[in-house]
Amino acid sequence: MKSKRTASIRIETYEVTTVRRRPLTLRAWCVACAAEVEMLSPKRAAEWAAVPLLTISGWLETGKLHLAEIAPGCLYVCRNALEQQMKECAAAKDLKIQPQASPRSTTRRNRSNSKGELP
Ligand SMILES: [Zn+2]
Repeated sequence: MKSKRTASIRIETYEVTTVRRRPLTLRAWCVACAAEVEMLSPKRAAEWAAVPLLTISGWLETGKLHLAEIAPGCLYVCRNALEQQMKECAAAKDLKIQPQASPRSTTRRNRSNSKGELP
C-alpha cells in the first residue's frame, strides 16, 4: 500500500489602513503664480477670508482664485490669489462708499461758499 502524503499550505494576509485627515494648509506649487505658495483647503480658505464656502466656490468658478489638485479629488486654493481677491473686494467696497460721501462733501462746500463763510 502506498503511503499517503499530505501537504498543507498556509497563506497569511494582512492589511494596514492608514486614515489621515487632509491638512488645512500646505505648501505646493501654484501654476498661475509660478511659485511654491501656501495652499488652503476650500473650507479653510472660507474661514480665513470670513466668507461663506459658496463665495469661495463662486470665485473658483469665475477664475478669481487659483486652484491646485494636490491629489485626485483633493483641491486646494492658492493663498496669494485669495489675498488678492480680498484686496479687490475691499477696494470695491471703498468705491461703493465714496460716491455716497462725495456728494455730501460737495454740498457742504457749496453751502459754505454760498454763505461766504469758512467751514
Ligand atoms: Zn496662485
